[in-house]
Amino acid sequence: MKPKGDDTGLEIRVRGQVQGVGFRPFVWRLARDMGLTGDVRNDAEGVLIRLFGEAKGFEERLRAEMPPLARIDAVECRDIQGAAEGFEIVASQAGAARTRVTPDAATCEACRQEVFDLKERRAGYAFTNCTHCGPRFTIVERLPYDRGNTTMAPFEMCAACRAEYDTPEDRRFHAQPVACPDCGPQLWLEPKGEGEPLARAARLLCNGDVIAVKGLGGFHLACDARNAEAVVRLRQRKHRPAKPFALMGTMDMIRDWCEVSVSEEALLRDPAAPIVLLTARQMPDGIAPGQNTLGWMLPYTPLHHLLIAAVGGPLVMTSGNLSGEPQVIGNVEALDKLSDFADAFLMHDRDIARRMDDSVERITPHGPMVLRRARGRVPGTLLLPKGFEAAPQIAAYGGQMKGAICLIKDGQALLGQHLGDLDDALCFEAFLKADADYAELFDHHPEVVACDLHPGFRASIHAQTKGLPVEEVQHHHAHLTACLGENGWPLEGGKVVGVILDGTGFGTDGTVWGGEILLGDYRGLERKAWLKPAPLIGGDMAAKEPWRNALARLDQAGLSDWADEAFSDKPLAMARMAVEKGVNCPMSSSVGRLFDAVAAILGMCVDRQSYEGEAAMRLEALARTSGGLSRYSLAIGVPVASMVGGALDPSEMIRYFVAKRDAGARVADLAFAFHLWLVRCFEGAVLSAMAGTGAQAVALSGGCFQNALLLDLTLKSLGDALPNTPVLIHTKTPANDGGLALGQALVAAARRL
Ligand code: ZN
Ligand code: ZN
Ligand code: FE
Repeated sequence: MKPKGDDTGLEIRVRGQVQGVGFRPFVWRLARDMGLTGDVRNDAEGVLIRLFGEAKGFEERLRAEMPPLARIDAVECRDIQGAAEGFEIVASQAGAARTRVTPDAATCEACRQEVFDLKERRAGYAFTNCTHCGPRFTIVERLPYDRGNTTMAPFEMCAACRAEYDTPEDRRFHAQPVACPDCGPQLWLEPKGEGEPLARAARLLCNGDVIAVKGLGGFHLACDARNAEAVVRLRQRKHRPAKPFALMGTMDMIRDWCEVSVSEEALLRDPAAPIVLLTARQMPDGIAPGQNTLGWMLPYTPLHHLLIAAVGGPLVMTSGNLSGEPQVIGNVEALDKLSDFADAFLMHDRDIARRMDDSVERITPHGPMVLRRARGRVPGTLLLPKGFEAAPQIAAYGGQMKGAICLIKDGQALLGQHLGDLDDALCFEAFLKADADYAELFDHHPEVVACDLHPGFRASIHAQTKGLPVEEVQHHHAHLTACLGENGWPLEGGKVVGVILDGTGFGTDGTVWGGEILLGDYRGLERKAWLKPAPLIGGDMAAKEPWRNALARLDQAGLSDWADEAFSDKPLAMARMAVEKGVNCPMSSSVGRLFDAVAAILGMCVDRQSYEGEAAMRLEALARTSGGLSRYSLAIGVPVASMVGGALDPSEMIRYFVAKRDAGARVADLAFAFHLWLVRCFEGAVLSAMAGTGAQAVALSGGCFQNALLLDLTLKSLGDALPNTPVLIHTKTPANDGGLALGQALVAAARRL
């Protein structure tokens, strides 16, 4: 920036995550430090700064020294006339500017130290926070984001807190949830008794009890992770035989149990504090049966820090809910619903305005992977790709199993939090509430709504009730475009080939898709190849009971005798009759169900899966133990799929696996070989789909790409086969149905641009 004369200055527009993160006081300090005059304010577009004086180096320092939770998307400068005395922070005008709200952030290091420092007035205080950390989205009830509009409203600041709140030099300047033991929320343990609640809770945990703990976005059920009996008790009470439990502990505790790379540590320490899947050195009993990874998070509120310190070891922290229902957030609701699970309740009197599950992420050799997007990530926004600048306001309603809403406004996409399985009545209620909540909070007035092509999805039915034009988007087209969108692929970027390996989604031909090679862009798609369909025996039951998929594929491969023997305790005659008559046996090209079939053929989860994706996750975990160079030599024998009229037939592969299994091959090697088969089969299909079409890139999406081994092998093989073609993957949004709404919104926008 060039030096300015006496009465000329600069107006600087800053866009990004710059509100509610201490940006204005930071600008105030910076301006004063540089001897500049002028002012800074929040408005609808972000932060607006007016500077008078020698501003050289200001923008550089703005970017280099900004507060930890801030993110700058763009800085625009223009010359202005005028002058000012001193430098001022201009208060937001109510109504005019709708201050954005940022995601919840884990306790910062300064607050953590304060809580453990006996000399500080906040020593041991579970609700300590500052401008750089603490609750945000989970406490805001309406905008603007001011204390009176949050669940902190009932707590009147004491003089000491008020002084911090009013002082621009203070770390707590304008920190809306600022509080201390004298004026803020209080903790108690139910049933009530003598002694300090945290210490009592810790004692109970060390005794093997299960405690319901009220956190940031909901209640958790906690127990001592080192106590195998306590873990079993929690599993029995929750009727959750095998689904992995998340763990919480300090960095040292995590390192005791798992390998932690530099990037994994950085992700654990991110202000979002997600659950990060880490490779375990050895698997403790009962935490994650059949897996070789553990999901860990660092303590992310002072309450968690104090509890972990008092226990002196890691805790299981699983969401406090009835099976399939949303996480409990209210005190009364918790006592009502969780009393069969918990021996005691660690509660407090700050209400949770909005339910927010823990985010789940992992680091792959190709960057981060989001498995569940919620606390700490939402309501973060994504800049829309080039060409979408003029997109109208759109609300997209996502899929069924992993509800999530996406809003488009002002060139940004806001993908909302994971809302659970909308088949559950309470999850659907939460979905409806989220729709109204988002519209209100973000002042969103859609011109168009978008939904899945599936007419039976609750989210699709809801879309039809809005009284607005509805854009129906094919499930796998939405997966493809979600991947394009998060990679910033321009609207006019040209066609790409999508490899969409998924559970199930309604196809344009009325059958159920799930293993597709698509050629398309934001506007449309062409189905180039697919996994040869097999019947989903018993419809939805097929996703729950892997033997059904195994039976379908074995019969197709001419191995009915083998199936008769392997599944002799199952109602095979009835199942085959249903297939023959076409009763509740829709045909599907789902790769997710092929995973189930192969798992069952290899003897895993034959009868049923106790949670969605269990068979595939076990297959991946097992394949990882195959190990060594033998993996690649093993590939030589794996058959390649034959393609007839676009359909990739796995029959030869099925026959190969059955023969190998009968010959006593290691199951781990076969699990690995199955991954290789998939990769080679779809690589071949990609190459033929690319030929002569001018496709510019390949995009990988669909729930199966949450399998890091499959992703890794696919990227390696495509990298070798197509060295000059970019391969786009998901790193910020889920590859599974949690990302669908983003893709739907982009398709709806593209159709109107
Ligand atoms: Zn802090
Ligand atoms: Zn206070
Ligand atoms: Fe899907």
